[in-house]
Amino acid sequence: MLGNKINIVVRIRPLIPTENSKGCVKLMNKLNQLLLQKEFYQVQFKFDNILSKNQGQKSLFNSVSYIVTYFMVGLNGTIFAYGQTGAGKTYSVIGEDCNLKDSNKGVLPRAIHQIFQSKKEKSFRLHVSFYEIYCEKIYDLFDFEDRKEKSTKDKYKLKELILKEGSNGSFSAEGLKSYEINTEEEALLLYEKGLANRATKASLMNKKSSRSHAIFEIYLEKESKGDKKHIVRSKLRIVDLAGSEKCSLRNIYSLKNRDKYIKELTAINGSLSSLGQCISALADPKRKHVPFRNSKLTKILKDSLEISAKIALIICISPSLDSYDETVSTLQFADRAKKAILLAQDDNRKAKGKTRGFSTYRETTAPIYDNK
Ligand code: ADP
Ligand code: MG
Repeated sequence: MLGNKINIVVRIRPLIPTENSKGCVKLMNKLNQLLLQKEFYQVQFKFDNILSKNQGQKSLFNSVSYIVTYFMVGLNGTIFAYGQTGAGKTYSVIGEDCNLKDSNKGVLPRAIHQIFQSKKEKSFRLHVSFYEIYCEKIYDLFDFEDRKEKSTKDKYKLKELILKEGSNGSFSAEGLKSYEINTEEEALLLYEKGLANRATKASLMNKKSSRSHAIFEIYLEKESKGDKKHIVRSKLRIVDLAGSEKCSLRNIYSLKNRDKYIKELTAINGSLSSLGQCISALADPKRKHVPFRNSKLTKILKDSLEISAKIALIICISPSLDSYDETVSTLQFADRAKKAILLAQDDNRKAKGKTRGFSTYRETTAPIYDNK
């Protein structure tokens, strides 16, 4: 069912001490509506699944855990965290840390927990990989090579991987390391080591890790049930996307590394917009072509962008007035994806001879927002 294929969850994080304590986002839960206001500007959005600042990590996981369930029966799935830097993507994916006992743990440790809870059959085999895409280059975060002997320049260089197109049209990063995991603890330890690699590399290259997409993959292999035995394979991806913020001219002129900054933003914006296009195309059952070739991110995610794959988009936003422009642009991205999904559902209904009720994605004039 299409409703299960792509799912959008909007998450409003609580205010944090470093930002303007004046809010610009108002949630009207009963109407599934978000009102955003700044001075005389006002925008209204409608989403089926909006999590308020009071809804914790458990609620978030509950709304995406079906992807893990599908993965366990052999369907590919991807959970994306999308939003501007500081909006809560990494918090949603990891939590405060990877501690299994931490009640604030994010989607990734919870997904691993769910997998091992249902891994009762001995015939299951699980492998994990972890890599990042930075400026259209792929780096293996499981590159744990001892670099003591290397020159300072090469010390923190992670292995760059080349994308190869297979005969079946799918892309794979050649030489990407993967490790077999047998316990939850093993999986999380590896993940933490990979994260440490990402952080070290980011600080040494004088860039924030929010400039890259981090992709954690879990592969499952098991024997099918029934008389004719065959191997069932599936892949679950959990993606902490690079910050979606737009280029600010004011910031650019004061920057020392202006060229690098522009290069990073161009790569990020290009890959995020092709991800949006792929998601929209995917929602439409009549569209045969999904334009995944436009970026490394979408090329590598091709098998997650196929018809049978499941996708959840966690859209992270800050409630602060400081973030008004970015929050509007983040929600516009989500809204485009939502409209594509609704249109596709509508077409499906028409094809089945059912008429449409009322539109749930009507543009309306926003009512006056009470900012007190
Ligand atoms: P991003 O990865 O999108 O750049 P982070 O996940 O690092 O943003 O979040 C920025 C800050 O906000 C962090 O200090 C994080 O702990 C906090 N934060 C984010 N989301 C939440 C939330 N839902 N509840 C509490 N704190 C949060
Ligand atoms: Mg982050």
